[in-house]
Amino acid sequence: MKLNPPDAADPARWKHVAASLLGVPQGRIYHIKPLKRSIDARNKVVFRLKAEIFIGEHIPFSEKIAKSSYPDVSRRPQVIIIGAGPAGLFAALTLIENGLRPVIIERGKDVKARKYDISLLNRGEKLNPDSNYCFGEGGAGTYSDGKLYTRASKRGDVSGVLRTLVEHGASEDILIDAHPHIGTDRLPGIIASMRRTITEAGGDFFFNRRVSALSISKGKIKGVTDHLGNEYQADSVILATGHSARDVYEMLVSYNLTLESKPFALGIRVEHPQQLIDKIQYRMDDRGEHIPAATYSLVTQAEGRGVFSFCMCPGGIIVPAATSEGETVVNGMSNSRRNSPFANSGIAVAIEPADWQQFNSAGAFAALELQRDLETRAWEAAGRSFKAPAQRMTDFLKNKVSSSLPECSYNPGLLSQPLHELLPAFVAHRLKIAFRDFDQKMKGFLTEEAVLTGFESRTSSPVRIPRDENTLCHPQLEGLFPCGEGAGYAGGIVSSAMDGQRCALVIAGRYKSKQAL
Ligand SMILES: Cc1cc2nc3c(=O)[nH]c(=O)nc-3n(C[C@H](O)[C@H](O)[C@H](O)COP(=O)(O)OP(=O)(O)OC[C@H]3O[C@@H](n4cnc5c(N)ncnc54)[C@H](O)[C@@H]3O)c2cc1C
Repeated sequence: MKLNPPDAADPARWKHVAASLLGVPQGRIYHIKPLKRSIDARNKVVFRLKAEIFIGEHIPFSEKIAKSSYPDVSRRPQVIIIGAGPAGLFAALTLIENGLRPVIIERGKDVKARKYDISLLNRGEKLNPDSNYCFGEGGAGTYSDGKLYTRASKRGDVSGVLRTLVEHGASEDILIDAHPHIGTDRLPGIIASMRRTITEAGGDFFFNRRVSALSISKGKIKGVTDHLGNEYQADSVILATGHSARDVYEMLVSYNLTLESKPFALGIRVEHPQQLIDKIQYRMDDRGEHIPAATYSLVTQAEGRGVFSFCMCPGGIIVPAATSEGETVVNGMSNSRRNSPFANSGIAVAIEPADWQQFNSAGAFAALELQRDLETRAWEAAGRSFKAPAQRMTDFLKNKVSSSLPECSYNPGLLSQPLHELLPAFVAHRLKIAFRDFDQKMKGFLTEEAVLTGFESRTSSPVRIPRDENTLCHPQLEGLFPCGEGAGYAGGIVSSAMDGQRCALVIAGRYKSKQAL
């Protein structure tokens, strides 16, 4: 069905539209089951709804979503999960489904207490190195836009992940929207509900515990120790610590475990007035209440490298995403209504081995050092404060420091700085090519109203923790399962969740085959 925006927003109107499309009396349509909803702004803005229509029959019981039931695992063998991000939480639920008891150790606070540290950070007052936008219950995806699309659909059951989120409080809209998102106002409640499911089934959570050592015997993992000296024992440990736990990478190296530098991406976060993006994408001044804030997705090639928009947050805000003082990192988030007056997005250049090799030696941390160097430069440029260095897009192209900056959503504040000089030359140069190209694709994208903030450096992990393709264990340490974004096997909430499920299923398979022996 092609629906105008007010009709799309009102399921009661769908029957009317369906009846006239199908030429049946409206009273004969008992039920409409939406399957997919997308927005089409190529001409006049309309919604396209794919639905199953029940004419003269009720929806069969089997079509209704059955709620998952989780068995009591309190007396079952335990598996340690380090990190309560999407990878860790979904691994925990899958372990329970398969009769194993997850013990989750998380360096940060529970999702509610974490909010306090995030507000201090937003006010530019203090950064807690264990509780911030990346660390704490729910992981990096909690205080985010909660976009749930992934290109990794072949790697797992995307709809299963979405259904689990709905069971824990997300809107059913995410099951049908072409580009589903949850919003930062809703995510904490969903994460807390997932924790309740896990603890009610007999799983355990330990917050404010940073894993700092491994217990290893004869090449096999036997458990872990946290920074307070508490010991936890298990033969299987899922390491799902995210892309910002640099101390975890260092800990692994201290046990002579191999790590590898990995391609990632670096750039800036750009912010435009949302109204301008709406005007470009929808060709209208006022989108009204039924049309969502417009998004964009841009990609180009600049001198042999991909440059792309990343984690676009319509109606969102730019946030400070560093994990320790002495570095400045920006990222974006938005609430479920996406109703701030700003649109922000990362614009990042793909970083490949040749880039870090010219910058540094070719060790496991060479790519990470390139990332860290840029973050430190941004911190220095911001006067060693939580402000972000910034520049108008038009001035960036002219290599000119901005004499004034437009209003911006970044709460700790901006400081006008020459981003064109702070960025590595090969990144700045390609960004300039990309901005001109994006302006061809979206007329008006290149404008003095657009402000660039520095830097978008935590796009994905610059380190890979190797694992065997079949056993999913680190090749040098039996029982250690590197998992999720920090290990280099996912990028985003859904793909990390699916990687968590995958590791859990492999572990469950091992226990089942042991029992069969
Ligand atoms: C501001 C922001 C917005 C984002 N928006 C989106 C979005 O809209 N959509 C999307 O798909 N992705 C988004 N992302 C990316 C997404 O959050 C990540 O891809 C995803 O969370 C990775 O999941 P993970 O479980 O692998 O790791 P993480 O979510 O990073 O979780 C790792 C967890 O491990 C814990 N940990 C680290 N070290 C230790 C230790 N030594 N001991 C114990 N615990 C430890 C951390 O505290 C953390 O909770 C966003 C990220 C940020 C920062």
